[in-house]
Amino acid sequence: MKMITGVDILDEEIKEKLKTENIYKIFNNFIIPLITEEEREFLKELEQFLLKEIEPKMDLNKEVYELFPILGKKNYIQRLNPYGESERYNMRYEMLLAMATSIIDPELDLARVVTGVIFANPLFQFGKGDRISEILNEIIMGKKIGCICITERKHGSDAVNMETKVNNQGDHLIFNGEKLYTTNGPVADYFIVYGVSDVSDPRGTMYQAIAERGSEGLITNRLGIQSIPRVEIGQTLFNSVKIPRENILGAKGQGYKNLFSGLVAERCSIIGSSLGIAWLTAVTGLIYTNLRVQFGRPLYDFQGVSFPQTQNFTELMAATELGFKSASEYNKTIERKHFDQPKFVKYNAAFSSGTKYLASHLAQKISYETQQLCGGIAFTDNLRIDKALGVAKVQEIIGGARNIQLYLVSRAIKDMIFLL
Ligand SMILES: Cc1cc2nc3c(=O)[nH]c(=O)nc-3n(C[C@H](O)[C@H](O)[C@H](O)COP(=O)(O)OP(=O)(O)OC[C@H]3O[C@@H](n4cnc5c(N)ncnc54)[C@H](O)[C@@H]3O)c2cc1C
Repeated sequence: MKMITGVDILDEEIKEKLKTENIYKIFNNFIIPLITEEEREFLKELEQFLLKEIEPKMDLNKEVYELFPILGKKNYIQRLNPYGESERYNMRYEMLLAMATSIIDPELDLARVVTGVIFANPLFQFGKGDRISEILNEIIMGKKIGCICITERKHGSDAVNMETKVNNQGDHLIFNGEKLYTTNGPVADYFIVYGVSDVSDPRGTMYQAIAERGSEGLITNRLGIQSIPRVEIGQTLFNSVKIPRENILGAKGQGYKNLFSGLVAERCSIIGSSLGIAWLTAVTGLIYTNLRVQFGRPLYDFQGVSFPQTQNFTELMAATELGFKSASEYNKTIERKHFDQPKFVKYNAAFSSGTKYLASHLAQKISYETQQLCGGIAFTDNLRIDKALGVAKVQEIIGGARNIQLYLVSRAIKDMIFLL
């Protein structure tokens, strides 16, 4: 992997103050009032773990995947679904995990969310049998990598009308098609793939199944996505790939329902990652501009520098409150098992879309603005701002582009008219 890391030009005193533990210190000060005593304890432990176990092993010239087994040691590949002894699993814990991991390494968190939530959640929700349990164990331990294949060359936002073809052979399915932009795809061991047996009836004939690396006809190639060099995004080709019955998560028609019910969890996790990125760049900017001197004064003394940052913090606080609220709403739908109550499912889906739109856009905006306010050094690898900006852009398109989130909200708010 070719990566450009350069010389260190950051003032020693500023560098000391910008250590991740200091960024966490300020972040915690903002976050702690919003979370419970138990969640605080979880966050503190998690941050200590990331500082001790992950940060020393991070290498910007290496991909993020070597860090997965380290996260897996403490069940930090995901915190959405209960696994193991601890009770600290739900969407709020998952969101805290996404925030703290994004602060230390936004690319790592992007790849983690894909394997730990977007891939693993459907296995927790719909998986049955020994093979699925084995796969889940390997994923949660960080020993194996998962990915999800929805998007196609001709069907992005219009994902439902996919063309990947499924032939049901009784004891197995055969998949034919091309999937694009598969995050983790080129290095993945397991692929959740969606396809239809009748392209003219995708809702009624969609399947969801897990393909395995090594299956004949399964080929992955890397796409050149330059903003996240340590995460592999791929083209995934299914040339008559055989998937055994035990790997089916959603049979004919059920695949469509599974696809949509999984999107809310996906969006909530992306909200957490986006908020983490925004906190990383906002706090970095706050520290840096308070120490960097120009014209004989710290940059922060100039209102042209401090006011835009203050605006960013104000918006970020509001978005973070909303993020936790959407996580709590998600937890409620799970706890109360609202899956069969369309009113709540619909409300939750629209709420998570609106918040995902807001948080991912804000992360991009805050990272971009902070980069400009800090100046040249924020374009180098001495600060984490440019890397965070690269990941923020991606967070805004994965899990559905901006307009698709707005489309979902616009449909939900239009329904209010029927109350009249
Ligand atoms: C880095 C990266 C990682 C990704 N990871 C994955 C992954 O792991 N798995 C996976 O399956 N997919 C993944 N995606 C795909 C991603 O979900 C799609 O890119 C996204 O859904 C948009 O599809 P598209 O790129 O074909 O754009 P298009 O659908 O062609 O959309 C282009 C533009 O038109 C807008 N648009 C489209 N339809 C409408 C409409 N009706 N109204 C208003 N505006 C509209 C969109 O919002 C967008 O701005 C990834 C993409 C990227 C870039």
